[in-house]
Amino acid sequence: MELRVIGCHGGETPKHRTSAFVVDDRLAIDAGSLTSGLDLRAQCALEAVLVSHAHLDHVRDLATIADNRNQNGAAPLVVAATKPTIATLRKHFFNNLLWPDFSRIPSAGRPAIRYLELKLERPVDIAGYAVRAVPVDHTIACCAFTVRGERGSLAYSGDTGPTDRLWDVLNATDDLKALLMEVSFPNDAARLARASGHHTPETLARDMAKLGRAKELPTLLYHMKPSFQAKVERECARLPRLNLTVCALGDQFIL
Ligand SMILES: [Zn+2]
Ligand SMILES: [Zn+2]
Repeated sequence: MELRVIGCHGGETPKHRTSAFVVDDRLAIDAGSLTSGLDLRAQCALEAVLVSHAHLDHVRDLATIADNRNQNGAAPLVVAATKPTIATLRKHFFNNLLWPDFSRIPSAGRPAIRYLELKLERPVDIAGYAVRAVPVDHTIACCAFTVRGERGSLAYSGDTGPTDRLWDVLNATDDLKALLMEVSFPNDAARLARASGHHTPETLARDMAKLGRAKELPTLLYHMKPSFQAKVERECARLPRLNLTVCALGDQFIL
């Protein structure tokens, strides 16, 4: 499984892009930078995108990728998410006001995007992977994903603060190769992190103590806020007994 980091930050500047990852060129996880970070050919090669939740930093480039793929006659892009996320996308995003409804353009029979509703913790085959959505704790409905390929599984936390079910599921996932894990704010912004449903390095370390293999499991950190990036990195570097790597734009991991 090849994992490419297209966007890995909790905000945007010319040096920071919002969350988007691509597995084997065909499955995207979140859509924060799918058009700002991928060329047209790579955009059109995607088969599906897993959307963790409806916050703009995770869905924004669905607008532009739908438009680009429509112009290029690409096959419908499967937008896989849980029911509340799809409802928000329909009502507030692809609503013919903020942006055209590309689930009916160019035609209802062969649209630019096609919604696929995920039921929590029920694995479904998407682009050749067994994908499972697991609920996490954020300010709106949000889920983590496990993505199982032929040689093992990858997990993605989505936006979350301290949570429980995800760690139970990961403890029971015996072929887990890596975890993409959010950490957003420095330790002295703990109140802000709590109010916005995110982690600091301290809360992350406490939460990861619920994971049996935390010391060995390659854990790829993402969603740092650009304003606090250096500070959060320094604080993460001091965390003991974890196998942490901070994601950077353009990183490629072979799992
Ligand atoms: Zn969010
Ligand atoms: Zn976010």
